[in-house]
Amino acid sequence: MKEVSAAEITAKVAELCIRACTVLPPDVVAAMESARDLEESALGREVLSRLLENARLAADESIPMCQDTGLAVVFVEMGEDVRVNDGHLRDAIAEGVREGYERGYLRKSVVHSPLNRCNTGDNTPPVICTEIVPGETLKITVAAKGAGSENMSRLKMMAPADGEAAVKQFVRETVERAGASACPPVVVGVGLGGSFEQCALIAKKALLRPLHDSGPHPEAAKLEAELLDAINSTGIGPMGVGGRITALAVKVETAPCHIASMPVAVNLQCHAARHAEHTWE
Ligand code: SF4
Repeated sequence: MKEVSAAEITAKVAELCIRACTVLPPDVVAAMESARDLEESALGREVLSRLLENARLAADESIPMCQDTGLAVVFVEMGEDVRVNDGHLRDAIAEGVREGYERGYLRKSVVHSPLNRCNTGDNTPPVICTEIVPGETLKITVAAKGAGSENMSRLKMMAPADGEAAVKQFVRETVERAGASACPPVVVGVGLGGSFEQCALIAKKALLRPLHDSGPHPEAAKLEAELLDAINSTGIGPMGVGGRITALAVKVETAPCHIASMPVAVNLQCHAARHAEHTWE
């Protein structure tokens, strides 16, 4: 049985919040650099250069790369043989978010209720998605999800007869409707299958995959390549100024679903594709 203290989890989550908001993961930086080299529009290239410069300054000076430091979405993979000592996992994570957003001077962006709109003042509660896995490992990933791209995300319960062409159309249309509002170049997380809620969750999880990998099986990999081509033909370009690179990557995750269903979720992630993780082994 592996034991991890609640205090240790809090300290690490605080650090992950700060790191996620200030340091862009290396695969995202690499994708932005190759996007800048591939971009055909001069203005688009200029925008990508500025975004890269912004990311470099944020990392060097430990300041947020964007004023919207997001809702903290925390993914937990908890081994069946892991025990949290001296506290509860959810409380420890929430305290880590509270500390991280305070210490890192990160904007507090959470309201108590969608109706009263009163700020909670400490960026809690986080959204926590927990998965129980075999073994003695605890992995925590913090994703700071800004509202610009999140607001442009969509889910549709399609009929199986609609087919793959309709799925592609829905994904492309979602990116087109988002335009500059999602702060492109975007990463497009697509969930295909599952139930209503599972579909949205796998679309969000897809955003955590390394940008250079390809789908978990050949069908998904093919769909990812075709969707990326389709999206990069829209001409929206970096920050909507026009150009070739509207998306850095498309990530498709699938799940078994009901014979009469075909849910499709598109979770858009802006160029500030922020996440940081830690594993206790
Ligand atoms: S969508 Fe992303 S880049 Fe745009 S304002 Fe929000 S967090 Fe910042």
